[in-house]
Amino acid sequence: MSYDLRSQAISQVIDRQPMPSKIPSRLEALWTADVFTLSKMQASLPKDVFKSLKNTIQNGGKLDVSIAGIVAAAMKDWAISKGALYYAHVFYPLTNATAEKHDGFISVQSDGSVISEFTGKVLVQGEPDGSSFPNGGLRSTFEARGYTAWDVTSPAYVMETDNGMTLCIPTVFISWTGVALDKKTPLLRSNAAMNKAATRVLKLLGHTDIATVNSSCGPEQEYFLVDAHFAHSRPDLLLTGRTLFGKPAAKGQQFDDHYFGAIPERVQVFMQDVEEKMYRLGIPAKTRHNEVAPGQFEIAPFFEAANVASDHQQLTMTILKCTAKKHGFVCLLHEKPFAGINGSGKHVNWSVGNATQGNLLDPGNTPHENMQFLLFCGAVIRGVHKYGPLLRAVVATASNDHRLGANEAPPAIISMYLGTQLEDVFQQIATGEIKDSIPGGMMNLGVDTLPVFPKDPGDRNRTSPFAFTGNRFEFRAVGSGQSVSGPLVAMNTILADSLTWVADKLEGELAKGTELITAVRTILKEIMEKHSAVIFGGDGYCEEWHKMAVEERGLLNLRTSADALPVIKEKHIEELFDKLGVLTPVELESRFDVYSEQYIKTIEVEAKLVISMAKTMIYPAAVRYLSELSNAIASVTGIGLSLDKEIASKVAALIQSMMDMVSKLSAAMDKHDFATIEEHMQYFAQTIRPLMDKVREYADALEGEVADDLWPLPTYQEMLFIK
Ligand code: ADP
Ligand code: MG
Repeated sequence: MSYDLRSQAISQVIDRQPMPSKIPSRLEALWTADVFTLSKMQASLPKDVFKSLKNTIQNGGKLDVSIAGIVAAAMKDWAISKGALYYAHVFYPLTNATAEKHDGFISVQSDGSVISEFTGKVLVQGEPDGSSFPNGGLRSTFEARGYTAWDVTSPAYVMETDNGMTLCIPTVFISWTGVALDKKTPLLRSNAAMNKAATRVLKLLGHTDIATVNSSCGPEQEYFLVDAHFAHSRPDLLLTGRTLFGKPAAKGQQFDDHYFGAIPERVQVFMQDVEEKMYRLGIPAKTRHNEVAPGQFEIAPFFEAANVASDHQQLTMTILKCTAKKHGFVCLLHEKPFAGINGSGKHVNWSVGNATQGNLLDPGNTPHENMQFLLFCGAVIRGVHKYGPLLRAVVATASNDHRLGANEAPPAIISMYLGTQLEDVFQQIATGEIKDSIPGGMMNLGVDTLPVFPKDPGDRNRTSPFAFTGNRFEFRAVGSGQSVSGPLVAMNTILADSLTWVADKLEGELAKGTELITAVRTILKEIMEKHSAVIFGGDGYCEEWHKMAVEERGLLNLRTSADALPVIKEKHIEELFDKLGVLTPVELESRFDVYSEQYIKTIEVEAKLVISMAKTMIYPAAVRYLSELSNAIASVTGIGLSLDKEIASKVAALIQSMMDMVSKLSAAMDKHDFATIEEHMQYFAQTIRPLMDKVREYADALEGEVADDLWPLPTYQEMLFIK
């Protein structure tokens, strides 16, 4: 029996009825409808309880656990009024996923009756059996106990699924011995470390009223939508999130006709649904557009406090995936689902600030006079230079390797773009004489009916992995499927380290009687002398830069995760995280173990699938075609026609080459004796991946030869262009 998933998928997609569009509800009606917000707490809690809670949430004050019972009761009443029967502690394991354990409010009484119950103890602490989460050897299965602990700074909410409402409580996830097993704990700790160092610097600059300094994050999320019928007919998309085979379509993104183009109607209905859910959950979705590749889109919320933004980012990924399903799409968050066209990233916009001094990375109109800004910006420059390889390591995954270090934005070399104006100011600092800031000027379009407006003082540079964009930095190397937490932890931590260094220096200078302004200039000059090598405003893609960066500037080009992940284990990185109280050496090493293991497992699954798809889908199709060709050649020779035998021999040769490569790959996969995990990763990066690419090369060439009606897999053309 033969079954033809591909042609079935095509007809199902063509027959598909679009989801009906609806008039969106008013923003005011949607906004935070499903969140237990501060104002809902205020309405339902005794005054002193609310005051204490608010102080913890807004000012980072110590959590008073004795009020948990009262908060829990109010939270339960609110959730039940929304229709919830269950609650879940939500946490963020090292897999980039979101995990949750559900429990019912149900409590059975001695007489057999039931009541709804949610105690303070249960709110504060949960105990999921976390033994199945990767922990890098932090716990053996016989010590499986893991705890979740309430993170009051990230609001609780109810999540609606087809199974009804669930009260969700964001939590940290720690082992029985108190070791962080998740991505939230270090984020909170890194923020505290950054706050401490930033406050010291602000005090030294003469401020007396200093509110808690917090980091902020605005993550731009790129993703692909593929019709579910197509995605489900492709084992590679199903199991690995990317196409392991597929000949590029004749048309790709060369016309740039998709970028910022009108959003297809079916996608717009989907987006509207996504945004409605986001608004209900208090996620401030702000920007949506088509991205560069066909079938690729972007959604970006307005920025928020990093911890909340990170939780909201996890929710956004969940919402995108679940809503896509409802609309008959599959949402691909993989960094490179389709070869030859743009991959997906996540730009993490980040800055630091507080309620009293505002955004500390805002240069104002005359940055050369803004000593406070220059110190904070200088601290970032020092950090990115000193710990560039760490920034590369925190975005190292098997899937992100297809972007970084391949011929795609951004390059694996971590450099920094400041823009014309700031680059000039820092150049002046380096030469010791700070005079002025290049003004932005006005943009006059020469048409009276068009407005004249002020020009930004610096252009953008799309090729830089770490760019200053007006009042924040934009880290562009983060993967589309990654949690933003790791990158935020790294940025907060290196800034905390630099600001501590700045504070120590400043204290030293001031103690010597140096005037503040002179002390600041001395420090900035030293930063430029030692760290300006990381500043680069040119084209980050070109070969000359790659050569110059490595040979003249001493920057590292860590192309693969196998090269980048071991950075985490270096002594100075261990000291950095340890001394700032962000991750203990044991916690850090466990992260290296988990991420390395994930790298290996990802490629292992892909390689196995390459072998099986080549053998069971592509080989049979090609052989069938070959036999059709041979039959045809045989049948027409008798009647005096001649058919091109060259095609048949070409197909036969490609089949042979592909199967030879499959055998090589299979044999290579049999190697298991690796001395270290580093060696294992290198083997996968250097040997297994290239063999997979080779199999693909022959298979894709076959796709260009074999009769289209025999080809079993939905093609790039179908997946990307049939909407
Ligand atoms: P672009 O695509 O031009 O880079 P977008 O408007 O798509 O810009 O996204 C910019 C992101 O940066 C938004 O999420 C925005 O809220 C965020 N952002 C703006 N200011 C800050 C800031 N001070 N800190 C962190 N993120 C910020
Ligand atoms: Mg951006």
